[in-house]
Amino acid sequence: MRYHLSCPEPATHLFHLSLEVERPGEELELALPVWTPGSYLVREFARHLEAVSAADPQGRPLPVERLDKHRFRVRTGGAAAATIRWRVYANELTVRTSHLDATHGFVSPAGVFLAVRGREGEPHRLVVAPPPGWQVATALPGGPVEFTARDYDELVDSPLELGTHRLATFEALGVTHQLAVWGRGNVDLTRLSVDLETIVETVGGFWGGLPYQRYLFILHLTGKGRGGLEHLASTAVLYPRLGFSDPESYGDALSLLIHEFFHAWNVKRLRPAALTPYRYDGEQYTRLLWWFEGATCYYEQLLLARAGLLPARRYLKALGRLLTSVARSPGAGKLTVEEASQLAWVKYYRPDENSGNSGVSYYQKGELVALALDLALRRAGHDLDGVMREAYARWAEGGLPEDGIEQLVAARLGAEPARALFDATVRGHGLPPLDLGPLGLQVRRRAAQGADDKGGTPGKPEERRAGWLGAELGSGLTVKSVREGSPAWRAGLTADDELLAERGFRLDSKGLQQRLEEHGPEGTLRLTLFRRDELLEVEVPLCEAPEDTLWLEPLPEATPAQRAAFTAWCGAEWPGAGAQGRNEAP
Ligand SMILES: [Zn+2]
Repeated sequence: MRYHLSCPEPATHLFHLSLEVERPGEELELALPVWTPGSYLVREFARHLEAVSAADPQGRPLPVERLDKHRFRVRTGGAAAATIRWRVYANELTVRTSHLDATHGFVSPAGVFLAVRGREGEPHRLVVAPPPGWQVATALPGGPVEFTARDYDELVDSPLELGTHRLATFEALGVTHQLAVWGRGNVDLTRLSVDLETIVETVGGFWGGLPYQRYLFILHLTGKGRGGLEHLASTAVLYPRLGFSDPESYGDALSLLIHEFFHAWNVKRLRPAALTPYRYDGEQYTRLLWWFEGATCYYEQLLLARAGLLPARRYLKALGRLLTSVARSPGAGKLTVEEASQLAWVKYYRPDENSGNSGVSYYQKGELVALALDLALRRAGHDLDGVMREAYARWAEGGLPEDGIEQLVAARLGAEPARALFDATVRGHGLPPLDLGPLGLQVRRRAAQGADDKGGTPGKPEERRAGWLGAELGSGLTVKSVREGSPAWRAGLTADDELLAERGFRLDSKGLQQRLEEHGPEGTLRLTLFRRDELLEVEVPLCEAPEDTLWLEPLPEATPAQRAAFTAWCGAEWPGAGAQGRNEAP
């Protein structure tokens, strides 16, 4: 089977494809996936498929029948071979969809390559004919323009970057790694390659070697947006083009890259048994996304810290912000991370103004669950590293059973303690219990100080307490979401309300904060707002802000054992009391 991909007029956003199938039999069934692994949403790629036709080796047309939204049948009449042609409109710049314009082409294969039903296990050859001057970067074996995937799964899991991208190459642990960068921006390729080399060595060291022959990082620089999608021996990452000089933003880019890289093991090779093999026709359900995403988030941060790329203080601040974010979601009291995993298909990838009230992120809470499991294991002389590696050793072939992680934790802690731990974390609601004492740390709480306060720090000393509204506001004081149970919720404020004035005086975000401070928890806001096209007056009786803003603080004193446990955990020295000065802004 041989695919041919070209883009003679890239500005039209059309990829031109053909597929030559030898010995097609009497009829062929062709199908385009409806989703791409790693991104659990039915994206209906077939809506961008057009001009499907087929011909025999003499060029005579063969009938093509559309079977449903994404499948076709070609009657070959016993021809020795059949060539199917189609085009794909590619104008959606995300890491899960394809994009083609005059500057480059990004092929997200699930939405581009039709599969031949029943022959997915055969080798799939691919010939690319890029426009003059363009190069092809992909992790598929072969090159520079001819590649062979061992089967359809490998083809789908190997995105291609076409164009005049900048390319950096480095060796790590004896294996060649490449970084292909499309788009202008302030990324320093040399510095990023050096840090990626450290990342590969740290993560490869964690797992005891690299499971691929070659690895490709595809980096797209854009004006806004942030995302990544993991693949077998590559990843596609999208990041703000000017996000590479500010240390915090650069650190965030490294987090994203190490996250996707860690997935080469956790989710690409160690996969949920429930997703083995992939079925591209529709949803596949697992309760384990808290493990595959949450534990990957956990190791993304922890391994950056161990690699020396994330200072311990910044790591603790990030953990405090994560605790804050989950503490502020009423939905964390309604859904477990297992349920959130099953609902990924309808909730996680379709966020709306009610997401925080109705659900919980299996990324965010999953990371806290991984931390809670690690803390419990460490107290008993084990750690989550061992669980992660044993899961890989046992189930990289065949898939991780739904209860696999609990089995491994039970083997270390005993069945009953493991069940209680999973009941409180994986199957529990709200924040998981975190006993950080053995690491010389404690979790502290306070009320939020203003709309920009994301937690993670002790905050400023407060002179007077502001009243609490409980609505998240966007630009122009438009309500983005309303927290269930808050004063805004009780007063009936709703998403898209535009707040204009309070007691007849124009509002801006600074002014609103001043009114909340002036009226205090006992006071009332008298708001004038637009709801759709209607001007309304709404009274909002305020209340005391909840203590939903958390941070991690080193204990006043730490014993040598606590200090040693902290270093064994994140590789850094215990930061010491007073590490996060009280004057640090939130
Ligand atoms: Zn991920």
